[in-house]
Amino acid sequence: MSERPAESHAQRYTVAVRALCEFTAKAGDLDLRFTPSPTAQEGIAGHATVTGRRGEGYQSEVSLRGDHRHLTVRGRADGYDPARRRLEEIKTFRGDLARQPANHRALHWAQLKVYGALLCREKGIEEIELALVYFDVVKQKETPLRETHAARDLEAFFQDQCERFLLWADRELAHRRERDAWLATLSFPHADFRPGQRVLAESVYQTACTGRALLAQAPTGIGKTLGTLFPLLKAAPGRALDKVFFLSAKTPGRRLALDAVATLSGPASPAPGDPPLRTLELIAREKSCEHPDRACHGESCPLAAGFYDRLPAARAAAAGEPMLDRARLRELALDHQVCPYYLSQEMARWSDLVVGDYNYFFDLSALLHGLATENQWRVAVLADEAHNLVDRARGMYSAELDQIAFRAVKKQVPKPLKGAFDRLHRQWNALNKDQEAAQPDQDYRVHDDPPQAFLLALQQLLAAVNDHMAEHPEPLDGDLTRFYFDALHFYRIAELFDDDAFLFDSEQRTPARGRPGSRLCLRNVVPAALLAPRFESAAAAVLFSATLSPARYYADLLGLPESTAWVDVPSPFRAEQLQVRIARRISTRYRDRQASLAPIATLIGEQYRQRPGNYLAFFSSYDYLDRALEAFRRQWPDIPVWAQERRMDETARQAFLDRFRDGGEGVGFAVLGGAFSEGIDLPGRRLIGAFVATLGLPQVNPVNEQFKERLAALFGDGYDYTYLYPGLRKVVQAAGRVIRTGDDQGVVHLIDDRFGRRQVRALLPAWWRVD
Ligand code: SF4
Repeated sequence: MSERPAESHAQRYTVAVRALCEFTAKAGDLDLRFTPSPTAQEGIAGHATVTGRRGEGYQSEVSLRGDHRHLTVRGRADGYDPARRRLEEIKTFRGDLARQPANHRALHWAQLKVYGALLCREKGIEEIELALVYFDVVKQKETPLRETHAARDLEAFFQDQCERFLLWADRELAHRRERDAWLATLSFPHADFRPGQRVLAESVYQTACTGRALLAQAPTGIGKTLGTLFPLLKAAPGRALDKVFFLSAKTPGRRLALDAVATLSGPASPAPGDPPLRTLELIAREKSCEHPDRACHGESCPLAAGFYDRLPAARAAAAGEPMLDRARLRELALDHQVCPYYLSQEMARWSDLVVGDYNYFFDLSALLHGLATENQWRVAVLADEAHNLVDRARGMYSAELDQIAFRAVKKQVPKPLKGAFDRLHRQWNALNKDQEAAQPDQDYRVHDDPPQAFLLALQQLLAAVNDHMAEHPEPLDGDLTRFYFDALHFYRIAELFDDDAFLFDSEQRTPARGRPGSRLCLRNVVPAALLAPRFESAAAAVLFSATLSPARYYADLLGLPESTAWVDVPSPFRAEQLQVRIARRISTRYRDRQASLAPIATLIGEQYRQRPGNYLAFFSSYDYLDRALEAFRRQWPDIPVWAQERRMDETARQAFLDRFRDGGEGVGFAVLGGAFSEGIDLPGRRLIGAFVATLGLPQVNPVNEQFKERLAALFGDGYDYTYLYPGLRKVVQAAGRVIRTGDDQGVVHLIDDRFGRRQVRALLPAWWRVD
């Protein structure tokens, strides 16, 4: 974990050169068309190419630092040639440099001038040559723009930038002082902790103080959100934390965090203008865009035109708000006529607590991780419902491309893109042919590495689309845009590919009409190596959930540091509250499903007759659910039932849950691992029992078998890591819906003989008394 020593923030403000210039020198439109380079790897390679061309004595990555009054400015210039007294800033790009917006160029010059001033100061130089080197990653060609400046002019420029920032810096310093004073005296908002909540809070506080990572398994109903947020915020001043990131897998988790902040702030929360804690909710672009039919630049979207000119006023107003949730942020953005999505990205810099999805810290181009690295923030990370992180991270680092969809897009692409699409198509067909020769009569194939010729054609296609976008202000066709982003993601993942952590496979698909084609998948199996640096960069990380067993599985797959602590918070519930019964005579294995339907219906019906009330019954698939429901209706026509359906929208989901009235009676049929098997709260008599007719094991198929093989090679337990642990986690989550408070009484029927096995029972919560 990051071990930067705590420094006093009371008097001095430290800012990165880039952040300073983005604050002082950005003006005009928001415009994302002229991208530096499509992938980070290309950018890094471009920088290496340029610096590799320089002669002996050339210094790369020159660390610079300087003060102006109580402001410290620091950063790393790309390169310095002492013999020529030339300081260089390298910017990689693709496309036509002439199309680069003027405000991008002005920002680059501002950065270079600040570096120049700092270098002149440090070396006592009177005059220096500044070179802005634009490097075309496709043509591998440099375009240098050179200017010679006297040190005194650069110093004046530097001081001017600092002065323009200082007013804001002073406000930030004052805010930081007040925030830390407020947090230091923060008290728990309730008379006492709930049972188990104190243990959790103490573990989190200790983790924050020691700078470690913590895996916290804590049962439902103890108030985990408050039990983790409160101690982490409380520890922030002592640990000189700049920010706390609360990351969750789903929207309800974010809402709980925002509610917890409101509870902590109390009814006497100060009026806007002087909030002790600034909280921001980050929302995805699809949900916050005001003009989904437009593109993000001034020629297309009115909220992008002049964005940076109106940003200072919007930012100042937003910084005066204690709670920038989705609604408030939108209101403010529209008041100032700026894009809400990009305003929220800006406010991530100036907020103390940021609440958002996992991807903002963990994915390939994660905003929060990028900002934290650039600004050297000390951040603490809270990952809510962390059992989801394995699958979510795998998803973030996996990619697929479908040839049938590609062909449909190819038919409609603008003329200048035809050549690039044809080239990729040829490479795709060649790849299919090779594989057919190597593994005839097989639709599913596993490949060694992503083929270089295919990737080269893909890279050329990306470049062509990129150039096209730079030259045409109007947004691209929806399907082409989707394919472009899928292809970009695929290319980025291919750059990360390694045999241990990834699987490259393809599947031949034959549509009802038209030609067959292959789907190429780059699947991440073990995200550990990609997540580990994220955890390392945090001053503290806490991953919490009701189901994090076995801890080794999560530590291995998530790449947590060796020193990660583990706490298993005892359940506040008593064994007498929950009867857990195993139906050992029933098998829910695929081959036994038909035979299982009648006994399952009998079991549910008899339980219901014995104690009428609301029950949930979980099955492994919709098909199994439908058949079980039919059998149940036949056998118990008078018992009310309702069922989860494929593709339910929010209203339909709510209607399903509304059937669970206090004192109501009936059985809701649902799919394990679906919307109703975790994250829902039905306390008291709203739910008095559950039936789980599956071990939740993922389907045995060629992909999962490949996962098993790779996980066995890495960790030894291929079957458990692929099937058993993920399956049992879903079972425990689903069964966990029954007991939500200390007063609840309920029953759980685990339907399958395999639940009786010692190895499986060891994965059930310790407080359950299994009959
Ligand atoms: S409103 Fe939508 S189109 Fe406009 S800049 Fe924001 S995200 Fe882009």
